[in-house]
Amino acid sequence: MGITPVLRVNPDDFAQEELAPAGRILREGGLVVFPTETVYGLGANALDETAARAIYTAKGRPSDNPLIVHLPDLSRLDMLCRDIPKQALSLFSAFSPGPLTVILKKQPQVPDVVSGGLDTVAVRIPSHPVAAALLREAAVPVAAPSANRSGRPSPTRLAHVLEDLDGRVDLMIDGGECGVGLESTVVSLAGDIPVLLRPGGISLEMLRSVLGEVRVDDAVSHRLAEGQRPMAPGMKYRHYAPAAPLTLAQGTPADVTAWLVAHSKEPGAGILCFDEQRGLFPDAAHVESLGPQADDAAHAHALFDALRSFDAAGVRAIYGALPGEQGISLAVRNRLLKAAGHHVVHL
Ligand code: AMP
Ligand code: MG
Repeated sequence: MGITPVLRVNPDDFAQEELAPAGRILREGGLVVFPTETVYGLGANALDETAARAIYTAKGRPSDNPLIVHLPDLSRLDMLCRDIPKQALSLFSAFSPGPLTVILKKQPQVPDVVSGGLDTVAVRIPSHPVAAALLREAAVPVAAPSANRSGRPSPTRLAHVLEDLDGRVDLMIDGGECGVGLESTVVSLAGDIPVLLRPGGISLEMLRSVLGEVRVDDAVSHRLAEGQRPMAPGMKYRHYAPAAPLTLAQGTPADVTAWLVAHSKEPGAGILCFDEQRGLFPDAAHVESLGPQADDAAHAHALFDALRSFDAAGVRAIYGALPGEQGISLAVRNRLLKAAGHHVVHL
């Protein structure tokens, strides 16, 4: 049985008043877990330094990893940010509400604990109806990282949150499964050129269609050198990681499948595959599919749940294919590379 109270809200049929008590908890400095279209978030009043600090304690999150501040709409953007470039408004109007986070220069009233001591702040307007209603009820900007213990895969269902945070927050809102399944796209507009810091549901191609030139931060696809600092501090941590070591293979589809079949015969092997391959690994200890091979959005949706299932099954090693770089696949690839500690075999 859980310790933290859980409020169940049907995202397809609810009244905004159902979120009033949760909004009050946030306003009064408490911690509330809530569903978004990306992953579950762990929210606190972003303008209350003590409340924001409690997020780091609940998650066990390093204090130099800043938080994303969530707003219901653009009306109070200038309360958080200054020197807002026109490009930011174009980007928000193209992709918000939605899985997009924009880094902008911050106003002094945003506490250092929220910005990780940086001169910038990350802002997002979520599209999930329950998140939007909660933000309106809270009537304060809400700082919210993913609602997992630091280092664990992000939660895409309340059951995942309960595994990690039961008893560590004031209220959890259960709004069913998250649609996108991966954290938001993070893009910085605080410098001269837009920079993609973390790929997500809004693809690089979509960003370029609005912004023109967008640089991709090194940390998106490469292991950082010792001491190298990524622009998004969170990208330096080994994240999204299941307990067993994960190895990824890059090669032709036939070669990768043969490699998976060979490894599936090892004792305690976990195989991460696609629906079309499911029947090929009768000897594996545990098999998880990301969905049909051609359905990139399904892969994003299924990924974190699959990684947690390997933990639950207690496998000794996990094997999977390295995704491509187009569209949302770049985000799936980034999360898998981080989960694998960049351990890639080239066939
Ligand atoms: P999470 O909310 O746990 O999904 O992580 C938020 C991500 O956004 C992390 O990778 C942070 O490092 C990044 N982030 C948040 N605020 C900033 C900022 N002001 N500048 C750069 N990156 C940021
Ligand atoms: Mg996170």
